[in-house]
Amino acid sequence: MYKYAIFILLSLIFFSCSSVKELNFVSREGWNADTQKPFPKHVPERITIHHEGTIFDPSKESAAVHIKNVQKWGMSEARNWADIPYHFIIDFDGNVFEGRNVFTVGETATEYDPTGHLLITCLGNFEVQELPEAQYNALVELIAHCCDKYRIAPETMKGHKDFAKTDCPGKNLYSFLQNGKLLEDVKIRLAEIQK
Ligand SMILES: [Zn+2]
Repeated sequence: MYKYAIFILLSLIFFSCSSVKELNFVSREGWNADTQKPFPKHVPERITIHHEGTIFDPSKESAAVHIKNVQKWGMSEARNWADIPYHFIIDFDGNVFEGRNVFTVGETATEYDPTGHLLITCLGNFEVQELPEAQYNALVELIAHCCDKYRIAPETMKGHKDFAKTDCPGKNLYSFLQNGKLLEDVKIRLAEIQK
């Protein structure tokens, strides 16, 4: 628990330049990330939302271990990626885990070019699972924060399936993009942050 407290403290410093109210941030050290390999740089100019795609059960596994395993698999011969493919990962409790450097292009197993995309993924499979409220709230907060910090228009926000042949981010998460609720909630938070 100490470890978590330290990283939450670090996160407050990290995010202190904008008034983020409810973001529990876990740095790479907090999930024992391996060092990334070199990869092309970019400037994030749009937000793209994913689900991690495997069923996540927080009563049976820790988010930090799950995320570490995603990185391990991606960096193995299976994919040979430079790092975990996403820039941020959100667990069921709304903790936001630091993924690859936001100024490094993300990676994908599908056919689209993620250059310029800020990749945010939610642990879980939302074709079959429901998005927990804490995870949704952290998603809103994180997107608003990123829009503010990297000068990204919230309207650029899309789901992975808008770019490639995939179910990602799953219908139960994608519905918040389709019905406009996510955009509306992000805009409200962004306006509060920028006040
Ligand atoms: Zn995806």
